Amino acid sequence: MSDERPIGGIHHVTAIASDPQRNVDFYGRVLGLRLVKRTVNFDDPGTYHLYYGDEIGRPGTILTFFPWPGAGRGSRGTGQQTATAFAVPPASLGYWQERLARHAVAVEGPRSRWGDDYLTFADPDGLLLELVAWQGASARPAWAGGPVPAEHAIRGFYGLTLCQRQGGPTAELLAAMGFRARAEEGLRQRFEIGDGAARAHVDLLVKPGGAAGRIAAGSVHHVAWRVADEGAQLAWRRRLLEAGLAVTEVRDRRYFRSIYFREPGGVLFELATDGPGFTRDEPAERLGESLKLPPWLEAERARLEAALPPLEAPA
Ligand code: ZN
Repeated sequence: MSDERPIGGIHHVTAIASDPQRNVDFYGRVLGLRLVKRTVNFDDPGTYHLYYGDEIGRPGTILTFFPWPGAGRGSRGTGQQTATAFAVPPASLGYWQERLARHAVAVEGPRSRWGDDYLTFADPDGLLLELVAWQGASARPAWAGGPVPAEHAIRGFYGLTLCQRQGGPTAELLAAMGFRARAEEGLRQRFEIGDGAARAHVDLLVKPGGAAGRIAAGSVHHVAWRVADEGAQLAWRRRLLEAGLAVTEVRDRRYFRSIYFREPGGVLFELATDGPGFTRDEPAERLGESLKLPPWLEAERARLEAALPPLEAPA
């Protein structure tokens, strides 16, 4: 019997930043996310890999960055995930408008899309973000230890926007991956993935003839979807290979296991396992406080620490 367990929603989103301290200050101090892991880019260990999320970095709440000091700015366009949307409780949008204004973040909105009000703004590198007032947010745990009161805290992702030159091939793949088509308006088609509190909204925005985006600071590098464990991951790997996609071998990312492939519109997709999670190498109450390295890089710790720029935790 093949393993038919579904894709469970968004696992994480990984984007590119320039200055790491500015990144920590914005996501930790302004947005109030918890820095749940401070490690290096396993494929480029001379640079940081920073993970933000809820209290323990549950799948569906994790935004990660490769900060490359001095990196040039990318451009938004087709073949990219162009808008990363966080969920907040419905009554919290006013709080956020005020908070972002107080931190001199330029905000557009609120606007409404399919009945959900949202604010639009950008991080210091130009990464496009949305805060969406969503009923489902209240069913998710809130981190009480950050600078944002728990009642208003960001509750993981609301959804993502895939911007494409043509929608057909990507829509077909999403359907094969179990995404449910929910609504359509003009050139925007909405899909959902995951159930209950894990539900996420994925919009396919078609821009015929739209210029391709350039991935650098301020753009999303890849998006990862949840699979329960390695068995479900291998079953999906087989199915995707059979569908003709070029899927990588399983890679050990220490806090989860990953496979990668490019969807037909050009966005890099990953399927990541729910476990083992960020408490694998430090206790929940100390997450993100010190530099963690995987066993295969531990011998190089002194050299890596000397090369990495100093990083102060968010106050
Ligand atoms: Zn990833």
